[in-house]
Amino acid sequence: MAQRKHLLPSIGLLVLCASCSPSEKLDPVSPVEPAPGDAGAEPDGGGNGAGDDLFATLPKITPTATGRGGAAATVDLRGTLAAIEILKKGGNAVDAAVAAASVLGATDPFSCGIGGGGFMLIYLAGEGKVVTIDHRETAPAGLTASAFYENGAPIPFPERVTSGLSVGVPGTVRGWSEALRRYGTLGLGDALKRAIQVAETGFDVDRTFFEQTGRNLQRFRAITSSKALFLGPDGEPWPVGTIFKNPDLARTYRLLAERGEKAFYEGEVAEAIVAAVRNPPVEPGSALTIRPGVIAPADLRDYEARVRPAVTTTYRDYTIHGMGLPSSGGITVALALNLLEGFDPELLTPVEVLHRYLGASRLAFADRDAFLGDPEFVEAPVAGLLSKDYADARRDLIDLFKAPTEAAAPGDPFAFQTDPSPSPGGGQGARGGGAGPNDAGDNETTHITISDAAGNIVSYTCTIETEGGNGVVVPGHGFLLNNELTDFNLPADPSAPHPNAVEPGKRPRSSMSPTIVMKDGKPEIALASPGGSTIITTVLQLLVGSIDLGLPIDEALAAPRISQRNARDGSSDAETAFLSTPEAEGLAALGHVFSDAGTTGGEIGAATALRFHGDGTVTAVAEPVRRHGGSAMVEQAP
Ligand code: GLU
Repeated sequence: MAQRKHLLPSIGLLVLCASCSPSEKLDPVSPVEPAPGDAGAEPDGGGNGAGDDLFATLPKITPTATGRGGAAATVDLRGTLAAIEILKKGGNAVDAAVAAASVLGATDPFSCGIGGGGFMLIYLAGEGKVVTIDHRETAPAGLTASAFYENGAPIPFPERVTSGLSVGVPGTVRGWSEALRRYGTLGLGDALKRAIQVAETGFDVDRTFFEQTGRNLQRFRAITSSKALFLGPDGEPWPVGTIFKNPDLARTYRLLAERGEKAFYEGEVAEAIVAAVRNPPVEPGSALTIRPGVIAPADLRDYEARVRPAVTTTYRDYTIHGMGLPSSGGITVALALNLLEGFDPELLTPVEVLHRYLGASRLAFADRDAFLGDPEFVEAPVAGLLSKDYADARRDLIDLFKAPTEAAAPGDPFAFQTDPSPSPGGGQGARGGGAGPNDAGDNETTHITISDAAGNIVSYTCTIETEGGNGVVVPGHGFLLNNELTDFNLPADPSAPHPNAVEPGKRPRSSMSPTIVMKDGKPEIALASPGGSTIITTVLQLLVGSIDLGLPIDEALAAPRISQRNARDGSSDAETAFLSTPEAEGLAALGHVFSDAGTTGGEIGAATALRFHGDGTVTAVAEPVRRHGGSAMVEQAP
């Protein structure tokens, strides 16, 4: 019997597995990517490879790099390298973002890919303006809210996750095409070159990939196409160090490269998506109930990305640009910052700053939950929510001396609208029972931050929703489908109005919060994170850490996180590492109660950021530890 080589995940020890059979996806084992801090291959300081082929000898993974020219930070070495490669060849930040995201579609397929969607925030240095590209997944035209209810109650969340019903029409390919066409210098074919090669020739499975497969084991075993791609012949995840190839994805990317976005939204790929949604490829005899969905060819053919203005607010000396609806991210971050602006951090201890951060976030989430939804279906009172007067009227609801013990009620932003208008969905409140969207968001989604030498910046969050999306690989095409429609709210009464209720053709409300911070007209910071609704609190905590507490950006990213999202009992989530800090003790003295996020997945977010310095240098930062660390690089050493 042939022997298959395994590397034990934690210690990189080579062992032989006599019970395993070979597969076309297995090649001889290459060295495991070094963990951050490990001695790795070819250390080179800033992490830039040399020579024409940056992928020929992989550089050491570093979570922080400072230098000149462009910069990139992603969750994965090859994603970052693909961006730097494009920048070095003269591409701009938009080209590099598409290149990085498409590589991540191969190397980080459980977080993002062409089966999903995202929000891209772009700073155009030449015009001095920020634009956004919404390529959020969309409910098919034939989907009604009642499809998510059975016997008078919402279908249980885990069953909605692994279903055809929750698949939104994927937006990523239209998003990439729109970004390149409007703001890039490359065509889709050139931007996808490296991703095609990575998918075809493979990459070594790292600990994140291995663990993410493991957490999807039960459903991958139940879905024939997912089992064939992501599990070995023994039905187990491919071990760390295995060379993983995805020839089907390479072929799909090649189709897009040759024929453009139409090759995704019409023809064989579209037909395969429709078939996988309407008739999920369930393993015979599987005990898992995987309900079919209703996506039709016309849903794919008609999908459009939307170019929308950014949500912009000021915070102290800074201008903050964020993502607008259908993401609640930019508005909720702005709401909380407007509340925090009334406090002077120089007069406060770190505990007092964090207490106010939690209080502001609680109030902002009360409004988010009550008023925000897809702007093409809901007239949300955005101007009122963003008005400084509204924040002034709400700020006193933050009790400075004690933690809350219950959820906050939403305010009345309509009174602060410059052009007051009724909201069909607004004001109904999202806390009226029923099933809410997935708010845990521990390991899904990914954020990419990239800048180029001309000063353009891309802050891009992309996702397939849950880690592993809906669990279904599109047969013959090598990518997972999203389950983004689980981000809709399901009120107990399906006919009750709700700004984020399911409607045909609607985009579910998101929390994704790609952010760009300017000062005196110049970029200062770009950042964001995955993490479901904790994205908003992570972005807020990073901004408070860097602006109010004066932390260097790498320290702000590494700091343990806490997250307050207007829980019914007033409690917050905390990473385990936070619970033993002096700040935790100080907050506990004010009555704060924390749930240990360590018991439900451990980490809050996996952010990336760029910090632009006055001397023209830039620091790129990825997580040093979360998701086993990310990769930051700059185009040129300082
Ligand atoms: N579905 C999530 C959202 O749009 C994706 C983000 C995440 O879970 O990290 O908010």
